Amino acid sequence: MTMLNLLKPQSAAPVESVIWDRSALESYSTCPAMPYLMAKHKVAGDSAIQQVGIEGHRIIAETWQSFANQDDLSGMRDYLVDEGRMSRPDIQPDVLRVLKNIANKLTVIGGQRIIGVEKQLSAPAGVKDKEGRPVVFSMAYDLLTACRKESELAYTDYKLGYKVRSNTEAAEAFQTQFGGLLIWQNYPQIQTIHVFYEQPRAGKTAYARLDRERDFHDFQGRAWSSLDRAVADDHPAWPDPVKCSWCTVAHLCEKADTQAADLKKDPADYLERMIIAEAIVKKMKAALTGHWKSGHKITTRDGKYEFGHFPSERISCKVKKAEALSEDDDGD
Ligand code: SF4
Repeated sequence: MTMLNLLKPQSAAPVESVIWDRSALESYSTCPAMPYLMAKHKVAGDSAIQQVGIEGHRIIAETWQSFANQDDLSGMRDYLVDEGRMSRPDIQPDVLRVLKNIANKLTVIGGQRIIGVEKQLSAPAGVKDKEGRPVVFSMAYDLLTACRKESELAYTDYKLGYKVRSNTEAAEAFQTQFGGLLIWQNYPQIQTIHVFYEQPRAGKTAYARLDRERDFHDFQGRAWSSLDRAVADDHPAWPDPVKCSWCTVAHLCEKADTQAADLKKDPADYLERMIIAEAIVKKMKAALTGHWKSGHKITTRDGKYEFGHFPSERISCKVKKAEALSEDDDGD
């Protein structure tokens, strides 16, 4: 039996069921007010960057459909690039750049290891909705590949925007954990999942390692908790400066973090204010430096921060937390 045969999905969605997709659940798990406001105000994510993502993923799906039943996947790379050349003309260069990156990766991996590209997996959630219908969780995977060990599998996702994830962010992402949960449910022999977020714009890859015994129940709890939020009658807002700065409906949300809301309402005005603020800070630093160089110790009233020269820093003058100061002093 080949590795690919071993990795055939073991479960199927029940006939009478209600399907909850990863992206819908994720928006509720991020902030329940977000999907609610998007639906209420009919807001769709339609920026150029989102269109590149949609177009890129459409081409990947079509390519996979063309090669789905073929043993020889060697033509997939050229097919992918050829299709990319005919994508929407206004975003074609961007789409092509991303698809070439994916095509190169497929070449390195080799067809024999590919389990699926744009592959949809679903699995029973183990809970019922208010109408008593079994809930099925579902998610599309950009790329699933077999590893050398039969108990391991790799999941690669292509992030085509500008946000750059760290390894910690990759490990804690809802997508990572929900994706891991469904893989474990579909492939009982898999213990370890290697998750890669390819970020071609930044030229970086974020990585997370998932372990069935350690993570399964944590991930399942998060998925259930998200489902609870999605079917609840209220839609609370959970503002956060970073979250709100990426939110499509920040300009419509009363609870939005004020900085993020200001930015969404008038980006030009926000930028101009930032430039002015930076100029003011520069002048304040110059004044502080002069005062400090004339022999004055400058600390905040609570003594937690100090302005001065710290030998371990490349910038000669800055504000530093007092706790960190003692560590520097030890080494000098
Ligand atoms: S702006 Fe912030 S609080 Fe409001 S919906 Fe978006 S993420 Fe939630």
